[in-house]
Amino acid sequence: MRRHLFVILSIFLLLSGCANWGVVDKTRMLMGTQVQIIVSGSGFTRVAKTAAIGKAFERIKEIEGLLSVYDATSEISKVNSFADVRPITVSDDTIRVIKKADEISKITGGAFDITIAPLVNLWGFGPRGVILNKPKEREIHNALRLVGMRNIKIDYARKTIRFLRSGVRLDLSGIAKGYAVDCAIETLKSEGIKNALVNAGGDIYCIGKVSPCRQWRIGIQNPRHKNEIIDTVDIEDSAIATSGDYERFSFYSGVRVSHIIDPRTGEPKSSVPASVSIKAADCMTADAFATAVFVLGPDKGLDFLSKVASVEGMIIIEKKDRFEAYRTDGFKKK
Ligand code: ADP
Ligand code: MG
Repeated sequence: MRRHLFVILSIFLLLSGCANWGVVDKTRMLMGTQVQIIVSGSGFTRVAKTAAIGKAFERIKEIEGLLSVYDATSEISKVNSFADVRPITVSDDTIRVIKKADEISKITGGAFDITIAPLVNLWGFGPRGVILNKPKEREIHNALRLVGMRNIKIDYARKTIRFLRSGVRLDLSGIAKGYAVDCAIETLKSEGIKNALVNAGGDIYCIGKVSPCRQWRIGIQNPRHKNEIIDTVDIEDSAIATSGDYERFSFYSGVRVSHIIDPRTGEPKSSVPASVSIKAADCMTADAFATAVFVLGPDKGLDFLSKVASVEGMIIIEKKDRFEAYRTDGFKKK
């Protein structure tokens, strides 16, 4: 997962002029990022809220233990080590994420692709660490041959994964945090919590409200000036996720490239767009769509979003001296 410590979106808790429900706000480093869980609402003591948050963090830790490519003992690392030679059985959680990734790969024409791992590693964004020189054409060409969902066989009934080419590897980093957020919300709900926010490095889900008269309000940062908020979005019982080029990137020959790679060219996306925010009914979808729309770019990305009901988005583009934001209808202020 991501190694950076920053939170992409900042959260405003505007409580003035309204009864305070007693907010408990906790942060932990999980999945390579800061995970923040806030619980609000009447009917629970601080102790009870804190205990529910603890269980939600444990659930995220469990997901990390299954899906992280940075953990050599995770289930996905086991798949990467052995699916070259035989089908590997995985858990319900892992197959659910792979199924969603497979669906999103299909509807995005392969812009989102979890077989991207050989390219992620080649460009120095993966668990094998940074690189000093730009990869050679030949290396990119060779890695590209291993990328594509056609290179893996998923048996949903048996819950097995088998690689059809030697050297294929999976990377769930573009979708796993979103799934972890959904799971944390499920845990909180099962504890009876009705008002909460979970934020895993900018992948956010909110249920209920922050206080009786205020919704959860998410601030979307200026991609180049962290302290500046360029938009706010009120969220209730839905998710928002942001992919940007500003948390993890490199420069090659003076060009800024992000850690998101175009599976069709084998090259990292350079700085257009600067960020993509996606609203969806669940955070796993929002997370994967944000990565996919980043790959598609502003024009194709907006066009694609406008065709998918239930998902809304905002794309921020850097112009010479300013930023321009493009929104689908459902993302516009009412
Ligand atoms: P972040 O982790 O910064 O929130 P994303 O959710 O967009 O960003 O995930 C980016 C990660 O997804 C990359 O670091 C890489 O591991 C992986 N990735 C890169 N390109 C793609 C792609 N085209 N499809 C799926 N996953 C990708
Ligand atoms: Mg993503």
